Amino acid sequence: MIDSPSTPLSPGELQGLLDTLVKEAPRCFGEGRVASYIPALAEVEPDQFGIAICHADGHVQYAGDAETPFSIQSISKVHALVLAMQRLTPEEIWTRVGREPSGQAFNSIVQLEVENGIPRNPFINAGALMVTDMLTSRLVMPQHTLREQVRRLAADPTIDFDERVARSEMDHKARNAALAYLMQAYGNIQSDVELVLDTYFHNCALSMNCIQLARSFAFLANRGTNPNDGTQVFSEIQTRQMNALLLTCGLYDAAGDFAWRVGLPGKSGVGGGIVAILPRRMSICVWSPRLDSYGNSIAGRHALEGLVSGLRFTPMG
Ligand code: GLU
Repeated sequence: MIDSPSTPLSPGELQGLLDTLVKEAPRCFGEGRVASYIPALAEVEPDQFGIAICHADGHVQYAGDAETPFSIQSISKVHALVLAMQRLTPEEIWTRVGREPSGQAFNSIVQLEVENGIPRNPFINAGALMVTDMLTSRLVMPQHTLREQVRRLAADPTIDFDERVARSEMDHKARNAALAYLMQAYGNIQSDVELVLDTYFHNCALSMNCIQLARSFAFLANRGTNPNDGTQVFSEIQTRQMNALLLTCGLYDAAGDFAWRVGLPGKSGVGGGIVAILPRRMSICVWSPRLDSYGNSIAGRHALEGLVSGLRFTPMG
């Protein structure tokens, strides 16, 4: 990925762009619907939109409902993988989960059976459950450690779980439980399956706003160093690897379309959030709860397209 020589926007111009995106977002409010298969998520007011960017130096700009907390859901799969990549060897991780796009729905069970219980990548549910198992089999208090990890990345000790959402997911766990028990049947899950599920649901139920999420991803736009506290989270190689995985696998079975339209590494969640990385420049978080049929935020994706067009430089050209 090569930076184009165009001049980046000034902070004032960028703020103007963010404000414009907020004004344009209501055009998408008629489309899509909020996730309802997790009942606690169905109660969210659908017509909201927020956007925040965290520059590689840690400076934040935002607009709209950027301070409203929402359920981060699958975006947490990235935080969990970061923890795994920090604590386990590459062999320990990548022999148990793949690195290829799945082309299947995020919660599909079909591929898992055909491929002997090895999930395609860590960003579909089966893969995230596998990563969660890697962590639960090594950590004494896995939920606590995952929450601390996110707090550290965002440099914000107030971030916490929404216990109602976690309970709601546990009460409607059938599909995720089926994935986890199938992997156990293949001998690929090492810890207690119910503990893995509870840890995974809590991680998905972290409640954060756009500003906190953008901050927690800023190290991926800063060669692995967290600009919020100066700590080295990842090596430069790990940073490149994570961004590559986000580009190819981060948006479920719409990853190709997202790369076509936006051209940035990204991760979405069924809470309506999408995080994207402009390497060496900024991390971005957009949030709007109405989802398309793939489970991705409609207004969020539109806003990212608008942002990339307005920025005058992107990694893809
Ligand atoms: N907790 C959700 C699930 O397991 C996450 C889905 C998502 O955001 O893609 O179904």
